[in-house]
Amino acid sequence: MLVAMPLEVVEGPEIVHVSREWEGRAWFPPGPHLAICLSGGKQRLADLTDDELLHVAAAARRQTSWAQARELAAIAELTARRTAAEEADDHDYRILPAREAVTEEVAAALTVTGNTAATLVHLAEQLTGPLSRTGDALETGRIDMARARVICDVTDALPEQVTRRVEAAALEKASDQTTGQLRRRIKRIAQRLAPEAVEERRREAVRQRRLELWDNPSGTADLALCDLAAEDAHGIHNKITAAAHGLKADGDTRPIHVIRADLATQLLNGAPLPDAVHAVLAQAGATDQQNGGTLDLRDSAAAPRMAGIESSGAPRPNGAGPPTPAATAADPAGDAGSPNEDPAIPELAAMMARRLTHLRDRTPAAELPTAVNHAVQRTAARLARQRDALCQGDDDRHGRPGHRPPASMRREIEGRHATCVFPTCNQPSHRCDLDHTVPWRPGITCRCNLAPLCRRHHRLKQSPDWNLHHIWPGLLLWTTPAGAWYIVRPDRE
Ligand SMILES: [Zn+2]
Ligand SMILES: [Zn+2]
Repeated sequence: MLVAMPLEVVEGPEIVHVSREWEGRAWFPPGPHLAICLSGGKQRLADLTDDELLHVAAAARRQTSWAQARELAAIAELTARRTAAEEADDHDYRILPAREAVTEEVAAALTVTGNTAATLVHLAEQLTGPLSRTGDALETGRIDMARARVICDVTDALPEQVTRRVEAAALEKASDQTTGQLRRRIKRIAQRLAPEAVEERRREAVRQRRLELWDNPSGTADLALCDLAAEDAHGIHNKITAAAHGLKADGDTRPIHVIRADLATQLLNGAPLPDAVHAVLAQAGATDQQNGGTLDLRDSAAAPRMAGIESSGAPRPNGAGPPTPAATAADPAGDAGSPNEDPAIPELAAMMARRLTHLRDRTPAAELPTAVNHAVQRTAARLARQRDALCQGDDDRHGRPGHRPPASMRREIEGRHATCVFPTCNQPSHRCDLDHTVPWRPGITCRCNLAPLCRRHHRLKQSPDWNLHHIWPGLLLWTTPAGAWYIVRPDRE
């Protein structure tokens, strides 16, 4: 609608509309049109003013929010389908529940950790359910994913009515608040509206207290006490800080955070406080002397692990579509294989990728899961005789009596796959079960039928429409309810 503007409002001889490209687009809503405005080569950015560059950055962020809302909506739809399918059946404890199985489906398709996928599924369900207004705000770019997550966190486990009121209050100002400001404000509101629920949630979190350890890319490791009662955590921190300041007053020149860390390490290694202070004094200036005997931190198989996973049939998160057969087959960067890798494996993996990609391109979507699964089964059956011959070798190693593999076989299989064979799993194989890919009897106890699976992915394997195939010793292939596939090769150095 056009609004007639009284002429006298316009001051001055002329208002030159330079029609700068991004002017007035501060709230150009996200979607296909904004995507077109944002596209274009990097060199175009060089022509924009500083102000316009900031408008472009903000617009790109709104567009990201929109795309993330679409991502979550798709995940929510898939979750709803899988959970609806489950409710028809009685639940079987040997099978991973549908909600957890769909988490694994998302993890594998988006190449994210199980934890990230679980967060996404939860967020997807909330933003399309009880927090649908937050979902709308994300889709229209009024808030970003980080703020949506804050609203989701703060309202988690609150009564429905309270959730609605906290959400309404949050969205009033969320566009103009950072995550920190937003969290502080709506935590206060939640506390005021539902003090008992907030206290119960705190107690529940304290019940989940734990000591966590994770390895860093720099070769160090983090050790954290999580979800302690706040008064305990602050008490410990204050005590260590006071002792550290004492050392500093006595002339220790190291930064306070380093002294605190050294004191905490001494204390956790069992030294009483005065001894810890002495020990930290003694090592002042010395290089790192921590004794590492108690915790084994060498467990960093992630990189070689991911290198051993071939392309999947799932849509890639970057939207580039599945890799072309050529890319899968050739992969010049890292396809040499380890010296001991069976040379048949890269060839078989490439052949499977080609065959399945071809199959997908000409199969109606509804028939894809069955078609993929059958194609893999047929290939495995055709390879059976050669596989048996390879495995028998000179000393008839194919198949051992009993369900339990001998120690030597266990070592061989753990050496072949350093972690659980689910594509995104990092559980070291020595903490996994050695799963008989085809269950024992008729499945045999042999390297051609054994692979490490953590408890969770063991259960996933039993879940409806998930299948794991062992098409060559050490070469495994997952097929999923959506008709995606993941080829898992032995680890390469
Ligand atoms: Zn065998
Ligand atoms: Zn696993």
